[in-house]
Amino acid sequence: MTAYRVINPATEEFLREVELADVETTDRAIAAATTAFATWRHVSPGDRARLMRRFADVVDAHIDELAALEVANAGHTISNATWEAGNVRDVIEYFAGVPERLFGRQIPVEGGMNVTFAEPLGVVGVIVPWNFPMPIAGWGFAPALAAGNTVVLKPAEITPLTAIRLGELALEAGLPEGVLTVIPGKGSVVGERFVTHPDVRKIVFTGSTEVGKRIMAGCAAQVKNVTLELGGKNANIVFDDADLAEAVAAAPGGVFDNSGQDCCSRSRLLVQRGIHAEFLAALEESVRAFTCGDPTRADTDMGPLVTAAHRDKVAGYVENAEVAFTGSCPTGPGFWFPPTVITPGDLRQADFNEEIFGPVVSVVPFDTEEEALAIANNTEYGLSGSIWTNSLDRAVRVSRGIEAGNLSVNSHSSVRYWTPFGGFKQSGLGRELGPDAVAAFTETKNVFFATRGA
Ligand code: NAP
Ligand code: MG
Repeated sequence: MTAYRVINPATEEFLREVELADVETTDRAIAAATTAFATWRHVSPGDRARLMRRFADVVDAHIDELAALEVANAGHTISNATWEAGNVRDVIEYFAGVPERLFGRQIPVEGGMNVTFAEPLGVVGVIVPWNFPMPIAGWGFAPALAAGNTVVLKPAEITPLTAIRLGELALEAGLPEGVLTVIPGKGSVVGERFVTHPDVRKIVFTGSTEVGKRIMAGCAAQVKNVTLELGGKNANIVFDDADLAEAVAAAPGGVFDNSGQDCCSRSRLLVQRGIHAEFLAALEESVRAFTCGDPTRADTDMGPLVTAAHRDKVAGYVENAEVAFTGSCPTGPGFWFPPTVITPGDLRQADFNEEIFGPVVSVVPFDTEEEALAIANNTEYGLSGSIWTNSLDRAVRVSRGIEAGNLSVNSHSSVRYWTPFGGFKQSGLGRELGPDAVAAFTETKNVFFATRGA
């Protein structure tokens, strides 16, 4: 087995070595999950719900520890990481309500009784990216477990620490061995094995569109069920009738939060021409006030990027672009990149079309509502977006016109664990969270019972 050396991206200090699983280890974990499924699926709804609630309580008792771990491993600010750990607790608690409510239906038929059952799929493979290691793990495993499946979970190679801890906390809460198994390792080894192993009945993948396509193609070979949460190139549209001060104040957070390493990051800022110059001037002030630095401090808005390689990739996009202004950030050690505002001369250029996944926003003027919609929709992605306007008519028209799964009006908030989340077009397939998420983790079985006799 090889090992990965986990580095703190804010300090470049060595944190820990994590063993990377090979195919044999992965197969053993899948076999254990298959065995555990035979029991877990028959645990009574009340007991399964109680175990899930206990799991949420144990996570709740470790929020500070989990948050500190994420700050160290991924460079998230302590305020974000605390929210993320709380989100995992909330998600487990929310889906703990599912086991007793896994309803089927009775459908009238002649000559007997017809009933549907929502049955678990079996072993679910959850593959997690490095940008939100905790929430994205929870969004996959919580509904899966609640519906009676068992889970094997692969964190991103570079951010495995919180997932490993969550696996330990599940056992501490009393979830039986094999119900939730965390397997650190490489995507090309552990992730691919989840896809090819016949006993893994579903893949929940969050990550890049490129890898998502590969996974979907791999799943096709076994007609394996798949949920995909992929990339985004999301618009933040500011109309001239918006509350300008509000829109300007919120814009940096909408794109630079988590250092822009967010699939929902509003990295295309479209501003109506009449307010474009005024908006840019005010934005410069707002960006300079956005603090980038020590992620352990409660008043820091933005930490480092996750690795040196990712920082260099982000820098590559900015190198030849028209930078209007930047905020500031530390020089090093650490993988720093400042909040950066670009005013692209050509909407075909890379910074405006590719997911940079860093603290970079491209600001572009538009004239009409139709033009704003055309620009916003001119992308293969369709994940999120924001609309700033004081006109209800416009808010309705534009929100209905944007091809994306998660929109917000006069806000950048698009994630709540009790509302559906997912993408249009090449941003994904299926929905996570909310009341319908469980359907992605069950098969409907229809049974007809013939009645004999009088
Ligand atoms: P990535 O390179 O696609 O990797 C995601 C996960 O897939 C990692 O665990 C990775 O393992 C694994 N993987 C890589 N190759 C694989 C393969 N051939 N088979 C199976 N698994 C494989 O994405 P990332 O760079 O970690 O994350 C950034 C991307 O995620 C961005 O595009 C972002 O937009 C997207 N994202 C989407 C959402 C959403 O909900 N829509 C949320 C967050 C992030 P390794 O770590 O070993 O490479
Ligand atoms: Mg990657």
